[in-house]
Amino acid sequence: MAVFKPDNVEDLYEMGEVLGSGHFGQVRKVRERSTGTLWAGKFLKIRKSQCSLLGLERSNVEREVMILEAVQHPNIVTLKDVFESRAEVVLILELVCGGELFDFIAEKENLLESEAIEFLKQILEALRFMHGKNVVHFDLKPENIMLSDKSSPQPIIKLIDFGLARRICQGEEFRSTSGTPQYIAPEVINCEPLNASADMWSIGVITYILLSGLSPFQDETDEETLANILAMKFEFNDRYFSTTSSMAKDFIQKLLVKDPSERMTAEDSLHHPWIKPLTRSQKVKRNRSSINMKSFKKFNARRKWKMSYNMVRMCNRLVRLRLLCKSSDHDPVQRDCESDIEDTESKPASLLRRRLSSSS
Ligand code: ATP
Repeated sequence: MAVFKPDNVEDLYEMGEVLGSGHFGQVRKVRERSTGTLWAGKFLKIRKSQCSLLGLERSNVEREVMILEAVQHPNIVTLKDVFESRAEVVLILELVCGGELFDFIAEKENLLESEAIEFLKQILEALRFMHGKNVVHFDLKPENIMLSDKSSPQPIIKLIDFGLARRICQGEEFRSTSGTPQYIAPEVINCEPLNASADMWSIGVITYILLSGLSPFQDETDEETLANILAMKFEFNDRYFSTTSSMAKDFIQKLLVKDPSERMTAEDSLHHPWIKPLTRSQKVKRNRSSINMKSFKKFNARRKWKMSYNMVRMCNRLVRLRLLCKSSDHDPVQRDCESDIEDTESKPASLLRRRLSSSS
């Protein structure tokens, strides 16, 4: 595994603008002092004591690093280096400059299904590769699907954020309830053993949204959303799917399948006629069908608004947290533990772990 270098990252990299924030820290643009090359620095706060709920356990960061090293693929963000200080670990990642795929699409006037498929294919290629190495992402959602350079005629997809990813070896049983409510598979909610098919469910949800601008299971509250997923409550309402091909609906229907063993794999998906048409008429249909751009733009605007709202909420929580920590400065043991008050106050379910950074 990559060596966690003890060097001070600022001696080697000049800090730049903040690119994004997650639950455990920030991602900033950084410039390598020796070469002038730009990278993305992911700064992850490490948990200081056993009783603290804030920050990540070092073992989680080690896992993210190990997985990033194992999944080197043109459609997956690359890890360059890792630095470690007492309080944080910094991952130096390839800088992904083109923003989120959904934002790129929302800027367009219209988009044919065949054009959307070009992006989907790249996502599926990345998944086929990862799943072939027994790595499952477990947090596929629009925020984690980026483009390397949006000005290029064929922008390249880059999957990011392997913070929840796992390597599940043959015979190993893995259960987890982490993820983002809108995109998680029924078996995650039911705390059943998981495998790569959980990612394929998320691809079904993402494709549904991409074509219609509607989120198949989303409801007023996360609890209702989760209940809709378990009840498999989704339909192709003509109001939103009037321009969608029947092949596209078939593709989604083969992914939004409750039984994970019946769901299409990444390999199957790449051979579905909507992705890889077998006849001329199938090809023509994809070029005649388009995504519901008006509805998609609305979905994306709402998603961005929610992300900003959640970010402000998270900042407010951090400010209150700092105040709490200051007031308990006299007791060092209490200081370590009290910084967690905000976390225990919020919903404990790990299912909602990523809510603040998601658009659930
Ligand atoms: P979360 O808690 O939301 O899962 P996280 O702490 O795991 O977040 P990431 O999702 O990896 O962090 O990154 C947070 C944000 O930073 C991303 O949504 C994206 O906007 C930006 N970002 C992450 N990696 C890169 C990169 N390599 N290049 C450019 N921007 C990036």
